[in-house]
Amino acid sequence: MYIINMKVIIIEKLNISGLKYDTLEKELLKLNFKKYNVKQIFNWLHNKMEDNFDNFSNISKENRNILSKNFFIPEITLLDHLISENDNTEKFLFKLQGNVLIESVLIGHKNRYTLCVSSQAGCALGCEFCATATMKFEKNLDISEILMQFYYVQKYLNQKGNKLDNVVFMGMGEPFLNFDNVMDSIDILNSIDGQNCSKRNFTVSTSGLVPYIEKFTDLDSQVNLAVSLHSVNDEYRSKIMPVNKKYPLKDLKKSLLAYQKKTKKRISFEYILIDDFNCSKNDAFELTKFLREFSCLVNLIPYNPVAGKSYATPSKTRQQEFYRILLKNNINATLRETKGQDIAAACGQLKVKRELI
Ligand code: SF4
Repeated sequence: MYIINMKVIIIEKLNISGLKYDTLEKELLKLNFKKYNVKQIFNWLHNKMEDNFDNFSNISKENRNILSKNFFIPEITLLDHLISENDNTEKFLFKLQGNVLIESVLIGHKNRYTLCVSSQAGCALGCEFCATATMKFEKNLDISEILMQFYYVQKYLNQKGNKLDNVVFMGMGEPFLNFDNVMDSIDILNSIDGQNCSKRNFTVSTSGLVPYIEKFTDLDSQVNLAVSLHSVNDEYRSKIMPVNKKYPLKDLKKSLLAYQKKTKKRISFEYILIDDFNCSKNDAFELTKFLREFSCLVNLIPYNPVAGKSYATPSKTRQQEFYRILLKNNINATLRETKGQDIAAACGQLKVKRELI
């Protein structure tokens, strides 16, 4: 705040971490920075992941002062970090500005690391099997709040000589309901002056919001698409995913076939195996029929119990039987081990636990 001739001028600081390159350039040129400064500053923020202007060592002190008078770099605070004893899964519970809690999950497999990030705090879609659905929807995460999850974990891995390989938007929230911020954060991570991550290493997972699948199709992006399917019977799917009432399977399938026709990309289908609900032999045969026209990979995920929900995990025999039916019918499938059960690694579980304490 400056006082000039007794007039009070309040300068609203801009969140610099959430600005795409073009916008950052526009803002910095207004403040008489040079074009090469824009590249340097973007590099500090998104390549070196530096969160303190004072450490921007190739920027003059005068310009660093201008930066801190006009911009801020938001903070992310780690509240909890749980490391699974059973497998290579780690869970991070973060606090954002305004006391908003979000989760990210790091999954290691054969020296490759995938980060599952949140796109929203809470979720309004109310899927029956999901811990996040038991919280109220708080907000769409802004670009910097999505990026900070990546940067925090990337720095953590870098200290151990490792790095992130893939990012999946399968944490808290429906990423397509925060479409622009999700896509813009991917653009920043993809930037050659940032992390230079290939878009092919990102996957956005949707519950099946048809208009957004169409919008995503129009983008013709290299980003991968995953769909939470969980049943190919409208009555059953609507029971666990209310979104199915608005966008039933027929419409979902049509939009996905159009997506595949345009992008030629394989679709991942997530299918949570819930005991006595969606994993009989007949369910497996129906699933193969539904998927016959797709080039796809089905990820079978044994249900990860959530406190307060009455669903159960099917037996290993039932899981294997379901899996084998898909393979015999030429459907690419994987049967996932339930990861991180000891650290409540399913979407939203850690936050729910903390709120219960
Ligand atoms: S599964 Fe995903 S879309 Fe459904 S309630 Fe949970 S976070 Fe929302």
